[in-house]
Amino acid sequence: MNIVLIGIQGSGKGTVIEKLKNSFDFSLISTGQLLRDEIASGSTLGKELKSTIDKGELVKTDIIINIIKNRLDNDCKDMIIFDGYPRSQEQAEELDKICNIDLAIHLHITKQTAISRILNRLTCSQCGYVTNKSSVSSNSCPKCNGDLVQRADDNIDAIEQRFSIYETETYPLIERYKKLGVLAEVDASQKPDDVCADVLKVIRDYNKK
Ligand code: AMP
Repeated sequence: MNIVLIGIQGSGKGTVIEKLKNSFDFSLISTGQLLRDEIASGSTLGKELKSTIDKGELVKTDIIINIIKNRLDNDCKDMIIFDGYPRSQEQAEELDKICNIDLAIHLHITKQTAISRILNRLTCSQCGYVTNKSSVSSNSCPKCNGDLVQRADDNIDAIEQRFSIYETETYPLIERYKKLGVLAEVDASQKPDDVCADVLKVIRDYNKK
């Protein structure tokens, strides 16, 4: 079973994924994290990626699909969750060529709630763990002791840019997966535990079919 998780930035995809990893034997492919790892490696590609990402723009699909194929070792095995991919019709078509998607889970939330969550968000610069300013008393990651930082692209200009791209490029995918009969909707404005519970229910219901 392979899943794509779709949701505007700040809809809580990172929190849901942490829960899913503990509840099922899924491998996670988070394109945002893979790109940040490439930037952290200091490679020439990483430097190019950083300027695109810091502006809140989308990285070209051919670069992303290569990174995904490398991560999959060119072979899409079972039990994968894609986070942050696909983000456009073109990316969805490329994904279909290498992997069968059984379930697309849409975490829906209003723009206002998403913005306030993003501005409150802290991310571990080492392991990618995501938390928020009101839940931690120091800037050390509770998982690996790395530094908790505000992401460079979590500023209001980049957020507006990412939202506008989400609306034009990513949102139409909801209709695409609905037509394919694999879409499940989850209300992501609930408390994190309730969102996770609803996502787990969607997956369990799918497995009962
Ligand atoms: P995220 O961590 O998912 O919010 O992604 C952070 C940034 O990485 C995005 O704003 C894009 O610049 C880039 N990115 C992540 N996934 C993709 C993708 N599938 N296609 C293009 N750019 C992406």
